[in-house]
Amino acid sequence: MKYYSLNKQSPDVDFKEATIRGQAPDKGLYFPETIPALDKSLIENITQFSDEEIAYQLIKPYVAGTMPDSELQRIIGETINFPIPLVKVQEDIYSLELFHGPTLAFKDVGARFMSRCLGYFARERKEKVVVLVATSGDTGGAVAHGFYDVPGVEVVILYPSGKVSSVQEKQLTTLGKNIHALEVKGSFDDCQQLVKQAFVDASLTSKLFLTSANSINVARWLPQQFYYALAYKQWADKNNPPVICVPSGNFGNICAGLLAHRSGLPVKHFIAACNANDVVTHYLEKGKYEPKKAVPTLSNAMDVGNPSNFVRVLELFHQEFGALKNILSSYSITDEETKATIKTIFEKYNYLPDPHGAVGYLALQRYLALHPGEKGMFLETAHPVKFYDAVEPVIGKAIPLPPAVQSMMVLHKQSEIIEPEYEALKAYLARSF
Ligand SMILES: *Cc1c(COP(=O)(O)O)cnc(C)c1O
Repeated sequence: MKYYSLNKQSPDVDFKEATIRGQAPDKGLYFPETIPALDKSLIENITQFSDEEIAYQLIKPYVAGTMPDSELQRIIGETINFPIPLVKVQEDIYSLELFHGPTLAFKDVGARFMSRCLGYFARERKEKVVVLVATSGDTGGAVAHGFYDVPGVEVVILYPSGKVSSVQEKQLTTLGKNIHALEVKGSFDDCQQLVKQAFVDASLTSKLFLTSANSINVARWLPQQFYYALAYKQWADKNNPPVICVPSGNFGNICAGLLAHRSGLPVKHFIAACNANDVVTHYLEKGKYEPKKAVPTLSNAMDVGNPSNFVRVLELFHQEFGALKNILSSYSITDEETKATIKTIFEKYNYLPDPHGAVGYLALQRYLALHPGEKGMFLETAHPVKFYDAVEPVIGKAIPLPPAVQSMMVLHKQSEIIEPEYEALKAYLARSF
């Protein structure tokens, strides 16, 4: 499989190059030149296939030729080594729980797959790779755990001091070994700015092999298709495929779902659930794409004003607005509605969603109210304990910590504090690697 840059000013590359580079030299996102078709017998007999076999069939055409089959199978096994259950919340609404991985959010799937691919390619290169990543919370933890102890890869995570939750901070700072946390005395934007500056600093990149681990990397984007297929495997009424609602920020997750659907996975309709950051909701209503500055909300992993993966969604539909609208709807949900929804689901159905899942639930409910007879699922993208400061006051009780989090919370934070200045980052990298 070849990948082209959506800016069309860079040469095509294979999966290995696309993974190592992250972004094309012309700053475009990589996109597969053809969309493979899934085997009909896989879809028709999906319950008879193992999860690993389903994942393998989905991803194989994208990776083919860049690593041996045995390696790909090992990577898949390590990527989905936790349960991804489809849980019934009420008669017509199910929750696809994507939070049973090590950092309690769906990003574990993409991060685990990407880290192992990059580890494999780095081993081939016999050259140390330094992954530099800025995080506002969830990405850093998933990347840290994904790359932990992967040979040949060092990871430097920049996070804004005092602006991530305590669970998130522990996930970033307690691993040690090849995972290094830099606590930046500034905002998430400062962190991102520092990382961007490092990538264009030739005096640095000539000495260090730097790469990013953000969500535009194809090795993070493509494996997210796995759980859409695993959800379908668990969907009882195969004659009436599900409506799938995805809490969306940068639109990588939902774009993976749309891609799987294009390859033949049965899905009745997709819904992009957004918070007050409603660029795409607005686009689908008005046909105009107008990026905005992000506003902070309770579902903060979706606080994105210009979703980076939306260009991939448009490419998938050949920029045809009508075709996209046929399969995709979007709703924007306020913080007040999010809180009320958490409370209602908890009290009525004894199910506790996190704020992102609650946004997904309500958007799905709105759509189903207009489409009687259909049933659907929302992607529960994080465990509610990750956002306990938002959830606990709403339900008026403490959320018990899962055992893995309990043991992590007593570990010591290891981080280095730096000023939000590029020279500070550069000096750190120079003396560390
Ligand atoms: C990252 C994240 C999202 C948004 O996913 P995108 O792929 O950026 O659309 C939603 N929920 C949670 C909990 C996240 O961490």
